Amino acid sequence: MRTPTKPSPWRVGGAATLALGLLLGAAQAVAKPGIFTCEPEWAALARVIAPEAQIYSATHARQDPHEIEARPALISALRRADLAICTGAGLEAGWLPMLQTRAGNARVMPGAPGMLLATAGLPLLPDAHHHAARDKGHIHAEGNPHIQLDPRLLAQVAARIADRLAAIDPAGASGYRTRLERWLVEWNGRMEAWQKAAKPLFGEAMIAEHSSFAYLFRWLELYQSADLEPIPGVPPTVSHLQGLLQRAREDPPMAVAQTLYQDPQPGRWLAEKLSVPLVTLPTTVTTEGEPRTLEGLFDHLIRALLVAREQRRPR
Ligand SMILES: [Zn+2]
Repeated sequence: MRTPTKPSPWRVGGAATLALGLLLGAAQAVAKPGIFTCEPEWAALARVIAPEAQIYSATHARQDPHEIEARPALISALRRADLAICTGAGLEAGWLPMLQTRAGNARVMPGAPGMLLATAGLPLLPDAHHHAARDKGHIHAEGNPHIQLDPRLLAQVAARIADRLAAIDPAGASGYRTRLERWLVEWNGRMEAWQKAAKPLFGEAMIAEHSSFAYLFRWLELYQSADLEPIPGVPPTVSHLQGLLQRAREDPPMAVAQTLYQDPQPGRWLAEKLSVPLVTLPTTVTTEGEPRTLEGLFDHLIRALLVAREQRRPR
Protein backbone atom coordinates (compact mmCIF):
# COMPACT_ATOMS: atom_id res chain seq x y z
CA MET A 1 0.00 0.00 0.00
CA ARG A 2 1.21 3.51 -0.79
CA THR A 3 1.97 5.75 2.18
CA PRO A 4 0.74 9.33 1.82
CA THR A 5 3.61 11.49 0.68
CA LYS A 6 4.72 14.61 2.43
CA PRO A 7 7.23 16.67 0.49
CA SER A 8 10.29 17.63 2.48
CA PRO A 9 11.16 21.29 1.97
CA TRP A 10 14.41 22.42 0.44
CA ARG A 11 16.75 22.75 3.33
CA VAL A 12 17.68 26.32 2.44
CA GLY A 13 15.17 28.61 0.71
CA GLY A 14 15.72 28.24 -3.03
CA ALA A 15 14.10 31.24 -4.72
CA ALA A 16 16.88 33.77 -4.21
CA THR A 17 19.62 31.37 -5.28
CA LEU A 18 17.60 30.29 -8.28
CA ALA A 19 17.10 33.88 -9.43
CA LEU A 20 20.80 34.55 -9.01
CA GLY A 21 21.60 31.39 -10.97
CA LEU A 22 19.41 32.57 -13.83
CA LEU A 23 21.12 35.96 -13.84
CA LEU A 24 24.55 34.37 -13.93
CA GLY A 25 23.54 31.92 -16.64
CA ALA A 26 23.50 28.13 -16.62
CA ALA A 27 27.22 27.72 -17.36
CA GLN A 28 28.23 29.74 -14.31
CA ALA A 29 29.03 27.76 -11.16
CA VAL A 30 26.29 28.04 -8.56
CA ALA A 31 27.37 29.01 -5.07
CA LYS A 32 25.01 26.54 -3.45
CA PRO A 33 24.17 23.77 -5.89
CA GLY A 34 20.65 22.43 -5.76
CA ILE A 35 20.68 18.67 -5.27
CA PHE A 36 17.64 16.49 -5.93
CA THR A 37 17.80 12.93 -4.64
CA CYS A 38 15.38 10.10 -5.31
CA GLU A 39 15.95 8.48 -1.91
CA PRO A 40 16.91 9.88 1.53
CA GLU A 41 20.23 7.96 1.76
CA TRP A 42 21.62 9.93 -1.19
CA ALA A 43 20.46 13.17 0.40
CA ALA A 44 22.27 12.21 3.61
CA LEU A 45 25.42 11.33 1.67
CA ALA A 46 25.27 14.54 -0.37
CA ARG A 47 24.93 16.52 2.86
CA VAL A 48 28.20 15.02 4.11
CA ILE A 49 30.01 16.28 0.99
CA ALA A 50 28.08 19.53 0.47
CA PRO A 51 26.58 20.69 3.77
CA GLU A 52 25.79 24.11 2.27
CA ALA A 53 23.87 22.74 -0.72
CA GLN A 54 20.10 22.90 -1.07
CA ILE A 55 19.14 19.26 -0.82
CA TYR A 56 15.75 17.75 -1.56
CA SER A 57 14.74 14.12 -1.22
CA ALA A 58 11.83 12.95 -3.36
CA THR A 59 10.95 10.15 -0.95
CA HIS A 60 11.15 9.32 2.74
CA ALA A 61 11.87 6.16 4.71
CA ARG A 62 8.23 5.04 4.94
CA GLN A 63 7.69 5.09 1.20
CA ASP A 64 8.37 2.24 -1.17
CA PRO A 65 10.88 3.70 -3.65
CA HIS A 66 9.64 1.34 -6.38
CA GLU A 67 6.20 2.98 -6.31
CA ILE A 68 6.22 6.75 -6.25
CA GLU A 69 3.80 9.17 -7.82
CA ALA A 70 5.29 11.86 -10.07
CA ARG A 71 3.70 14.71 -8.08
CA PRO A 72 4.06 18.39 -9.14
CA ALA A 73 6.25 19.15 -6.11
CA LEU A 74 8.77 16.56 -7.29
CA ILE A 75 8.70 17.91 -10.84
CA SER A 76 9.42 21.46 -9.73
CA ALA A 77 12.17 20.29 -7.37
CA LEU A 78 13.85 18.40 -10.23
CA ARG A 79 13.43 21.41 -12.52
CA ARG A 80 15.57 23.50 -10.15
CA ALA A 81 18.29 20.91 -9.56
CA ASP A 82 21.92 21.22 -10.64
CA LEU A 83 22.58 17.62 -9.64
CA ALA A 84 20.18 14.68 -9.28
CA ILE A 85 21.22 11.51 -7.45
CA CYS A 86 19.09 8.40 -7.88
CA THR A 87 19.70 4.70 -7.37
CA GLY A 88 19.18 3.54 -10.96
CA ALA A 89 19.22 -0.12 -12.05
CA GLY A 90 15.49 0.14 -12.62
CA LEU A 91 14.50 1.05 -9.04
CA GLU A 92 12.88 4.32 -10.15
CA ALA A 93 11.86 3.07 -13.62
CA GLY A 94 8.20 3.64 -12.79
CA TRP A 95 8.52 7.35 -11.99
CA LEU A 96 11.90 9.00 -12.66
CA PRO A 97 11.68 9.10 -16.49
CA MET A 98 8.31 10.84 -16.21
CA LEU A 99 9.74 13.37 -13.73
CA GLN A 100 12.67 14.07 -16.06
CA THR A 101 10.40 14.61 -19.05
CA ARG A 102 8.02 16.88 -17.17
CA ALA A 103 10.80 18.85 -15.44
CA GLY A 104 12.53 19.47 -18.79
CA ASN A 105 15.81 20.31 -17.01
CA ALA A 106 18.71 19.56 -19.40
CA ARG A 107 21.17 19.41 -16.47
CA VAL A 108 19.56 16.24 -15.10
CA MET A 109 18.39 14.43 -18.22
CA PRO A 110 19.62 10.83 -18.72
CA GLY A 111 23.34 10.88 -19.53
CA ALA A 112 23.86 14.52 -18.46
CA PRO A 113 26.70 15.20 -15.97
CA GLY A 114 24.11 16.35 -13.46
CA MET A 115 22.33 12.97 -13.42
CA LEU A 116 24.16 10.55 -11.14
CA LEU A 117 22.95 6.98 -10.80
CA ALA A 118 24.42 5.41 -7.67
CA THR A 119 24.41 1.86 -9.04
CA ALA A 120 26.13 2.74 -12.33
CA GLY A 121 29.33 0.73 -12.72
CA LEU A 122 28.90 -1.17 -9.44
CA PRO A 123 28.81 -4.96 -9.38
CA LEU A 124 25.18 -5.63 -8.45
CA LEU A 125 23.90 -8.78 -6.81
CA PRO A 126 21.84 -10.83 -9.24
CA ASP A 127 18.15 -11.14 -8.59
CA ALA A 128 17.71 -14.88 -8.38
CA HIS A 129 14.10 -14.98 -9.48
CA HIS A 130 13.79 -12.25 -12.04
CA HIS A 131 13.46 -14.56 -15.01
CA ALA A 132 10.34 -16.10 -13.55
CA ALA A 133 8.78 -12.71 -12.93
CA ARG A 134 8.89 -11.11 -16.37
CA ASP A 135 5.16 -10.77 -16.73
CA LYS A 136 4.22 -9.95 -13.14
CA GLY A 137 5.44 -7.91 -10.23
CA HIS A 138 8.46 -5.76 -10.74
CA ILE A 139 11.76 -7.18 -11.73
CA HIS A 140 15.34 -6.30 -11.08
CA ALA A 141 16.44 -7.18 -14.57
CA GLU A 142 19.60 -5.08 -14.16
CA GLY A 143 20.49 -6.68 -10.81
CA ASN A 144 19.44 -5.86 -7.26
CA PRO A 145 19.38 -2.04 -6.92
CA HIS A 146 19.09 -1.93 -3.09
CA ILE A 147 22.78 -1.17 -2.58
CA GLN A 148 22.48 1.46 0.15
CA LEU A 149 22.75 -0.98 3.05
CA ASP A 150 26.31 -1.95 2.11
CA PRO A 151 28.45 0.80 3.69
CA ARG A 152 31.38 -0.11 1.40
CA LEU A 153 29.25 0.79 -1.61
CA LEU A 154 28.11 4.01 0.09
CA ALA A 155 31.77 5.03 0.29
CA GLN A 156 32.15 4.49 -3.46
CA VAL A 157 29.03 6.51 -4.19
CA ALA A 158 30.24 9.31 -1.89
CA ALA A 159 33.43 9.61 -3.96
CA ARG A 160 31.39 9.89 -7.15
CA ILE A 161 29.12 12.53 -5.61
CA ALA A 162 32.22 14.58 -4.71
CA ASP A 163 33.54 14.25 -8.29
CA ARG A 164 30.26 15.32 -9.86
CA LEU A 165 29.88 18.25 -7.50
CA ALA A 166 33.45 19.33 -8.26
CA ALA A 167 32.66 19.26 -12.00
CA ILE A 168 29.42 21.19 -11.60
CA ASP A 169 30.82 23.69 -9.11
CA PRO A 170 34.61 23.98 -9.69
CA ALA A 171 34.89 26.82 -7.15
CA GLY A 172 33.78 24.44 -4.42
CA ALA A 173 35.87 21.47 -5.60
CA SER A 174 38.55 21.54 -2.90
CA GLY A 175 35.89 21.78 -0.19
CA TYR A 176 34.02 18.74 -1.56
CA ARG A 177 37.23 16.69 -1.76
CA THR A 178 38.40 17.65 1.72
CA ARG A 179 35.06 16.76 3.27
CA LEU A 180 34.98 13.47 1.36
CA GLU A 181 38.44 12.49 2.56
CA ARG A 182 37.68 13.37 6.14
CA TRP A 183 34.41 11.43 6.00
CA LEU A 184 36.03 8.37 4.40
CA VAL A 185 38.59 8.10 7.22
CA GLU A 186 35.81 8.26 9.79
CA TRP A 187 33.54 5.89 7.80
CA ASN A 188 36.27 3.26 7.40
CA GLY A 189 36.78 3.29 11.17
CA ARG A 190 33.06 2.85 11.72
CA MET A 191 32.85 -0.02 9.24
CA GLU A 192 35.54 -1.89 11.13
CA ALA A 193 33.71 -1.37 14.42
CA TRP A 194 30.37 -2.46 12.92
CA GLN A 195 31.81 -5.64 11.51
CA LYS A 196 33.39 -6.47 14.84
CA ALA A 197 30.11 -5.84 16.68
CA ALA A 198 28.17 -7.94 14.15
CA LYS A 199 30.44 -11.02 14.43
CA PRO A 200 27.82 -13.02 16.41
CA LEU A 201 25.44 -12.71 13.42
CA PHE A 202 27.79 -14.56 11.10
CA GLY A 203 26.07 -17.37 9.22
CA GLU A 204 22.60 -16.75 10.66
CA ALA A 205 19.56 -17.24 8.39
CA MET A 206 16.92 -14.58 7.84
CA ILE A 207 13.57 -14.61 6.12
CA ALA A 208 12.74 -11.25 4.58
CA GLU A 209 10.26 -9.70 2.21
CA HIS A 210 11.80 -8.80 -1.14
CA SER A 211 15.57 -8.44 -1.60
CA SER A 212 15.62 -5.12 0.29
CA PHE A 213 18.30 -6.28 2.75
CA ALA A 214 20.40 -8.44 0.42
CA TYR A 215 23.44 -6.14 0.54
CA LEU A 216 23.27 -5.74 4.33
CA PHE A 217 23.08 -9.51 4.76
CA ARG A 218 25.98 -10.08 2.39
CA TRP A 219 28.14 -7.53 4.17
CA LEU A 220 27.43 -8.98 7.63
CA GLU A 221 27.55 -12.56 6.31
CA LEU A 222 23.98 -13.42 7.18
CA TYR A 223 21.92 -15.12 4.51
CA GLN A 224 18.33 -14.91 3.37
CA SER A 225 16.87 -18.39 3.47
CA ALA A 226 13.47 -17.45 2.02
CA ASP A 227 11.48 -14.54 0.64
CA LEU A 228 7.96 -13.62 1.75
CA GLU A 229 7.27 -12.57 -1.82
CA PRO A 230 6.32 -15.47 -4.10
CA ILE A 231 8.05 -13.57 -6.92
CA PRO A 232 9.77 -10.15 -6.70
CA GLY A 233 7.31 -7.29 -6.47
CA VAL A 234 4.32 -9.54 -5.78
CA PRO A 235 2.98 -9.30 -2.22
CA PRO A 236 2.96 -12.45 -0.09
CA THR A 237 0.10 -14.86 -0.74
CA VAL A 238 -1.48 -17.27 1.74
CA SER A 239 -0.36 -20.35 -0.18
CA HIS A 240 3.20 -19.08 -0.47
CA LEU A 241 3.31 -18.30 3.27
CA GLN A 242 1.93 -21.75 4.13
CA GLY A 243 4.65 -23.32 2.00
CA LEU A 244 7.32 -21.18 3.66
CA LEU A 245 6.05 -22.16 7.10
CA GLN A 246 6.27 -25.86 6.25
CA ARG A 247 9.82 -25.55 4.97
CA ALA A 248 11.06 -23.15 7.68
CA ARG A 249 9.74 -25.31 10.55
CA GLU A 250 12.55 -27.77 9.88
CA ASP A 251 15.22 -25.12 10.13
CA PRO A 252 13.83 -21.81 11.43
CA PRO A 253 15.63 -18.56 10.64
CA MET A 254 17.13 -16.29 13.31
CA ALA A 255 14.36 -13.75 12.59
CA VAL A 256 11.93 -12.44 10.01
CA ALA A 257 12.81 -8.98 8.66
CA GLN A 258 10.65 -6.40 6.97
CA THR A 259 11.01 -2.77 5.93
CA LEU A 260 9.14 0.24 7.30
CA TYR A 261 6.95 0.41 4.20
CA GLN A 262 5.89 -3.20 3.78
CA ASP A 263 2.60 -4.57 5.07
CA PRO A 264 3.51 -5.88 8.55
CA GLN A 265 0.88 -8.68 8.58
CA PRO A 266 2.54 -11.47 6.56
CA GLY A 267 5.90 -11.17 8.35
CA ARG A 268 4.23 -11.01 11.75
CA TRP A 269 2.15 -14.10 10.97
CA LEU A 270 5.16 -16.13 9.90
CA ALA A 271 7.36 -14.96 12.80
CA GLU A 272 4.64 -15.89 15.30
CA LYS A 273 4.10 -19.32 13.74
CA LEU A 274 7.84 -20.00 13.81
CA SER A 275 8.32 -18.42 17.27
CA VAL A 276 11.13 -16.24 15.99
CA PRO A 277 11.52 -12.46 16.41
CA LEU A 278 10.13 -10.07 13.82
CA VAL A 279 12.43 -7.12 13.09
CA THR A 280 11.13 -4.05 11.29
CA LEU A 281 14.17 -2.30 9.93
CA PRO A 282 14.64 1.02 8.16
CA THR A 283 16.23 0.71 4.73
CA THR A 284 17.35 4.33 4.72
CA VAL A 285 17.78 7.33 7.00
CA THR A 286 14.64 8.44 8.81
CA THR A 287 13.44 11.87 9.95
CA GLU A 288 13.57 11.00 13.63
CA GLY A 289 15.28 8.65 16.05
CA GLU A 290 18.66 7.00 15.81
CA PRO A 291 18.63 6.29 12.03
CA ARG A 292 18.48 10.02 11.25
CA THR A 293 22.09 9.88 10.09
CA LEU A 294 23.88 7.27 8.01
CA GLU A 295 26.07 6.20 10.94
CA GLY A 296 22.99 6.05 13.17
CA LEU A 297 21.24 3.90 10.56
CA PHE A 298 23.96 1.22 10.65
CA ASP A 299 24.26 1.42 14.46
CA HIS A 300 20.52 0.83 14.61
CA LEU A 301 20.42 -2.04 12.08
CA ILE A 302 23.21 -3.96 13.76
CA ARG A 303 21.82 -3.44 17.24
CA ALA A 304 18.34 -4.58 16.13
CA LEU A 305 19.77 -7.76 14.59
CA LEU A 306 21.84 -8.50 17.69
CA VAL A 307 18.77 -8.01 19.89
CA ALA A 308 16.79 -10.40 17.66
CA ARG A 309 19.54 -12.99 18.06
CA GLU A 310 19.34 -12.65 21.85
CA GLN A 311 15.54 -12.92 21.78
CA ARG A 312 15.55 -16.12 19.83
CA ARG A 313 14.24 -18.92 22.00
CA PRO A 314 16.71 -21.66 22.82
CA ARG A 315 15.95 -24.86 20.92
ZN1 LIG B 1 13.38 -3.95 -5.33
